[in-house]
Amino acid sequence: MMIDVQPTASHFIDGEYCEDEAGAPIGCIFAATGEVIARLHSATPTIVDRAMESAARAQKEWAARPPVERGRVLRRVADILRERNRELSELETLDTGKPLQETLVADATSGADALEYFGGLAATITGETVPLGGDFVYTIREPLGVCVGIGAWNYPTQIACWKAAPALACGNAMVFKPSEMTPLCALKLAEIFIEAGAPAGLFNVVQGYGDVGAALATDPRTDKVSLTGSVPTGRKVYAVAADGIRHVTMELGGKSPLIVFDDADIENAVSAAINGNFYSSGQICSNGTRVFVHKAIEDAFVARLVERTRAAKIGDPRDEDTQLGPMISKVQRDKVLSYIEKAKDEGATFAHGGGVPDGFDKGFYIEPTVFTGVTDGMTVACEEVFGPVLSVLTFSDESEVVARANDTPFGLAAGVFTRDLTRAHRVVAALEAGTCWINTYNLTPVEAPFGGVKLSGVGRENSKAAIEHYSQVKSVYVAMGDVEAPY
Ligand code: NDP
Repeated sequence: MMIDVQPTASHFIDGEYCEDEAGAPIGCIFAATGEVIARLHSATPTIVDRAMESAARAQKEWAARPPVERGRVLRRVADILRERNRELSELETLDTGKPLQETLVADATSGADALEYFGGLAATITGETVPLGGDFVYTIREPLGVCVGIGAWNYPTQIACWKAAPALACGNAMVFKPSEMTPLCALKLAEIFIEAGAPAGLFNVVQGYGDVGAALATDPRTDKVSLTGSVPTGRKVYAVAADGIRHVTMELGGKSPLIVFDDADIENAVSAAINGNFYSSGQICSNGTRVFVHKAIEDAFVARLVERTRAAKIGDPRDEDTQLGPMISKVQRDKVLSYIEKAKDEGATFAHGGGVPDGFDKGFYIEPTVFTGVTDGMTVACEEVFGPVLSVLTFSDESEVVARANDTPFGLAAGVFTRDLTRAHRVVAALEAGTCWINTYNLTPVEAPFGGVKLSGVGRENSKAAIEHYSQVKSVYVAMGDVEAPY
């Protein structure tokens, strides 16, 4: 084993690790080798009950602390995440199989950004006064209570931080369930919250499969559910949350367009297409998997894309020189391979990749894959692949490409490459997506709202917008005169 920071038990509740071996076994597999690196257990009803109970208790204590003090705890968590970035990144690499080259700059660090940002905002979360010409109303922005966070497997640390930071800044507690495929990182975050001075129970982590997520989402003590996952899971979680009229944030999947006009800087557009399709082996919800390239530059664009993709260094993710690691699991690798087969069957042209790279049959590797000649109706252009598969489609006209880009039930993100500023703004205004980029792709700083339209989700994470989704407003009417009554 490369490092010695394995969490010591499956769950972290009320300030300490705990175990209930009656829970179904969970094997955490290192995606680069297929080895089991940790054995955990899914939460039993007793574990779920303890987690909810202690979160409800901690929330009351936390909400009563002065906001500036709450913010200080969150900023301390951010500092610790940065101090321990290397060991946390190494754990993230073991948990997910993502290259260390990525985890060192994208995971604990982006989590720290969220904790720092919302730690700073905590003391600014206030109500307002509404004058009524004598009488007046004032509002109090209150926490929701206990929030449940349910995460996907691609960014376990970042997802836990993006949910916990705004939730806790607003005075809520959180019970977090990571994907059973990446159970390790959130446990380290829970340890760090305690070290930074958060009350025991404020951020609990329970492991489990979908049934544990469902038990948390329907628990009567749950006031809000925030899910990062696929659309089918989103539908289920949204439905059960509705039964209790609970608040929700849904960060779901996408099939986002990246539009490259004929006046674009081709090298930059190719860089964006590479980042927006192959980073994290393509396991990113906002990826620009439909790359619409203007016919006039198709040959030049594809030539550079293939040339540069060919140079990608595939390898052991623990090696800092590795640029492309494995997929999360055999199931996901096989799913992506079947999408590749289908694209070939449906007539897409193979420009690069497409299989398991030589010498990498132990882990769950796939070559970065480029298809050209993709048309709108092909499966690879319609469904979320969630793997390193890039589709090049061509277009010749602005209004045509905007209509085609929007012709999807998803609406998470979109990118436009052009040197014509007027066109850039006109096109993003017409695109149906929660996040748009002009002349770049996939940058998601904590200062900017992030979330989807259409099937890609409801609510926004990050930025001041997230405060709206983790708090509620109490309106207080104050009478300054006598009360009139008709009799
Ligand atoms: P899933 O939807 O399969 O799972 C997400 C989480 O929900 C997991 O923790 C899962 O547990 C849990 N879950 C499953 N069923 C239920 C249920 N009935 N009730 C409550 N919880 C449940 O997603 P993946 O983990 O496969 O992640 C990939 C998906 O996530 C992609 O579609 C991707 O686009 C999306 N995603 C969206 C992002 C965004 O911000 N918009 C960011 C990252 C990913 P278990 O794993 O045990 O099944």
